[in-house]
Amino acid sequence: MLGLLVAIGLFALSIAPAQAQTPDKPVRLVLQITVDQLRGDMIERYSAGFGKGGFRRLLDEGLVYANAHHRHANTETVVGHTTLATGTDPAVHGMVANIWLDRTTGELNYNVQDADYPLVGEGGGVDAKTEIDPTQRLATTQGRSPRSIQSTTISDEITLSLGAKAKVFGVSIKDRGAITLAGHTGNAYWFSKSGGRMVTSTFYMDKYPDWVKAWNEKGVPASYANTSWKFLAEKSAYLHGNADDAPWEIDFPGFGRTFPHPYGPADGKYFTTLLTISPAGDEIVLDFAKELVATESIGADDVTDYLSISFSSTDYVGHFFGASSLEAEDNLHRLDRTLADLFKYIDDRVGLDRTLVILSADHGASEVPGYLNSLGIGGKHFKFDEIDSSKAIAAIKAKFGISAKKLVDRYFHPYLFLNRKTIKKGGLDYGKVSRKVAEELRKFPGIAYAVSSYDLRAGNVARTPITEAVLANFHEDRSGDIYVVFEPHWFVADFDGASVAGSHGSPWTYDSHVPVIWMGPGIEAGKIVRRVETVDVAPTIAAYLAIRYPSGARGKPLAEIVD
Ligand SMILES: [Zn+2]
Repeated sequence: MLGLLVAIGLFALSIAPAQAQTPDKPVRLVLQITVDQLRGDMIERYSAGFGKGGFRRLLDEGLVYANAHHRHANTETVVGHTTLATGTDPAVHGMVANIWLDRTTGELNYNVQDADYPLVGEGGGVDAKTEIDPTQRLATTQGRSPRSIQSTTISDEITLSLGAKAKVFGVSIKDRGAITLAGHTGNAYWFSKSGGRMVTSTFYMDKYPDWVKAWNEKGVPASYANTSWKFLAEKSAYLHGNADDAPWEIDFPGFGRTFPHPYGPADGKYFTTLLTISPAGDEIVLDFAKELVATESIGADDVTDYLSISFSSTDYVGHFFGASSLEAEDNLHRLDRTLADLFKYIDDRVGLDRTLVILSADHGASEVPGYLNSLGIGGKHFKFDEIDSSKAIAAIKAKFGISAKKLVDRYFHPYLFLNRKTIKKGGLDYGKVSRKVAEELRKFPGIAYAVSSYDLRAGNVARTPITEAVLANFHEDRSGDIYVVFEPHWFVADFDGASVAGSHGSPWTYDSHVPVIWMGPGIEAGKIVRRVETVDVAPTIAAYLAIRYPSGARGKPLAEIVD
């Protein structure tokens, strides 16, 4: 009997690894690249300065979906990354925002925080005094894990299908950029600004492999000390060559609004932060990823491995200088070089003819309101405390007899949270209160739409494109009480004390539009302008590899890739 079972097992093994595209030459590596805040038009827009091996290679040899969109309303980093990883909406995968209010503890929750899994090694956590990322600063613990993600990821499915021989890794400057795509079964590494090194948490391992220790000791970040971010070409070669200085750019102390941007000494208070607001951040991630590929033998055998790299510099540069700035343009030229370096390295080690490459973004970007206003297009940095809310406050008091300030707990993008205890104690009807507050919010200048979760849940709202996007974002436990959509080009820029020039997070096209580019065996070069959605990415990878779809997947495989 045992012999028969072994025989069946061997037979099953002999047929299991067959793959859809190239049965004789299986794909050895899935390389999923995410460029944080890379709006769908930006590659073409800044392509004049590109070399041959980076973006140009993807455009010439890859299949480009030129009209791909996130379909959820809250176009934020963790939401987009997890959607790309799982092929489903935040309503299902649960990562509805970078921050949400945990109703059981009453505390704000940073998306990938997890007190059960502290960082490996001493220090390396978020230093609230110097952290400029307002969402990371709000984490109530230094521990990190993917346990809040409620669907399997495509990387999980590779592990489930191919077993432990399939190696799965995610790397990024940002914890959430690495953790989301590494899934529950892979290993994630990200950059600690306080430690100036790559770190991970005990969810993944108890101690660092020797190669990670060695890489950290090499001091790649410190090698940028006392150098500057200079632009690559002559100013005249840039679209924005004559617009280096604009009043709406953030003048970060010591870094300035114009080139060259000096990093300062390695012991400078914001030295590692400045590396992330420049192409250096992506170069550091690439250097680490190359070491990972070499020492972990990524793509070295016929069992498909998975490597996710999320490049974060485009996001920080966009927030500080805007999407239409010389900095954004030069950063993309630098990223083009970084990608060329990556592709050459993978080609030499693994072979691009044995690698499936996917490039996309977690969200796009709004232009800076000041820039838009200079062109006669509206737009504004929205500030709740500058709004005259006296009429709304009076209307709510008149209807319910309780002050609006007591009924409203807080706003945290994109949700307004009501004080449910006050509503209950006052004997008020939760549905009526939330609907009335949404109604008053809609009257505010700069607010296009506000809808209560109560009405979404009850099916009381018309199915417009905006409500569809808000519904895709609606999660029973994690969504707030009222979803607030600002007018196009209006956004909250003063965010927990940190001001930004440009931002994202709306359902409007500039935020939802992202590139989706595929390059690999069996994929014909071309350009598709039919609208597709980012939930289609993970199911397409699954179909391409002939493996199971992520558990919550709602997207459809893209026919041009898998047929
Ligand atoms: Zn992002």
